[in-house]
Amino acid sequence: MPALADVAREKLHTLETAQRKRMLTPLERLQNPYVMRGGKRLISFSCNDYLGLSHHPQVKAAAVQALEHYGTGVGASRLVTGNHPLYAKLESALAKREKTQAALVFGSGYLANLGIISALMGKGDLIVTDKLVHACLIDGALLSGAKLLRFKHNDTADCACILKQHRKEYRHALIVTDAVFSMDGDMAPLATLRECAEAHEAWLMADGAHLLSPLDTPVDIYVGTLSKMLGSYGGYVCAQKPVIDYLMTTARTLMFSTGLPPASLAASLAALEIIKNAPHLLHVPLKKAQLFTEALGLPKAESQIVPVILGSEYNALKAASILEKEGYLAIAIRPPTVPENTSRLRFAFSALHTDEDVLAVARVIKQRILL
Ligand SMILES: *Cc1c(COP(=O)(O)O)cnc(C)c1O
Repeated sequence: MPALADVAREKLHTLETAQRKRMLTPLERLQNPYVMRGGKRLISFSCNDYLGLSHHPQVKAAAVQALEHYGTGVGASRLVTGNHPLYAKLESALAKREKTQAALVFGSGYLANLGIISALMGKGDLIVTDKLVHACLIDGALLSGAKLLRFKHNDTADCACILKQHRKEYRHALIVTDAVFSMDGDMAPLATLRECAEAHEAWLMADGAHLLSPLDTPVDIYVGTLSKMLGSYGGYVCAQKPVIDYLMTTARTLMFSTGLPPASLAASLAALEIIKNAPHLLHVPLKKAQLFTEALGLPKAESQIVPVILGSEYNALKAASILEKEGYLAIAIRPPTVPENTSRLRFAFSALHTDEDVLAVARVIKQRILL
């Protein structure tokens, strides 16, 4: 048998040849939208802290206070001794915001999706997902052992067609979609998917990790993250009380992983409070994104996420490096995160980008990248 290090080296070489090797680059986030990378201050368009709440004085103060009072960690799984009282407060605030009966907080959005899908679905069940859903939804579906079928992106007719053809062979069926697609920024047709779910006796699950406002179409399972817009860390699910109670007692990523640090819970709570008192903030990132798409003549942004698709891995990496030299950070997104030949720069707009920042980066893209 070859040495493990040799196998790893060989595999890395293959990735490198395909320009798919990834690197961890040290990066210090300053107040949004600024970051320090390679000794240089850049304006970032690659952070999901869409409202800049990770550096908000009230959020930081709440985290510091919780840290002082309760220490750095909870020491065990929530089902053992790690269920800090702040969890109940946070879950009640989340359920209220999403207008559902109950909520359950997990260690991260990834852990939530992995745990939820594998707890609810199993062998003999059917999961139908959009082709472009986030990797953790696919991972959850694979882990569940259910049959996984995928419909064309945002194509509800294709979803209906798959269900029509295959639904009857399975016990339970679940339609899974991102609410806002993380790498494309477009929105799922949730109202139509809901009709489709009802017509074919399926449940509907939406992942709103990048959604800034509460969902307006009711779904059976709503998943969100505390790690993006709220600037903290963790994930959560909102659903009816029996679903939450069942997940609490069966989701393995909740059972077998330590609870979140109290400071993270307190930060999420403080961030939710800020949003509740200043709901207008939630609309600003989209405005910035639309200013950007207008400046570049791209289709009007549907969310705060805008892809500039460049095709090859090389083109995307080159574009990112041009921008970085000009003082802007937009990370190149390559397969397997996105499909083959759709490597891109993914722009994430924040309430703290100025119009000047947005127009200036658009100008560089127009003059140096899209030519
Ligand atoms: C980021 C993301 C997640 C994972 O959330 P984390 O809290 O970062 O683990 C899940 N779903 C989607 C669509 C995401 O973009």
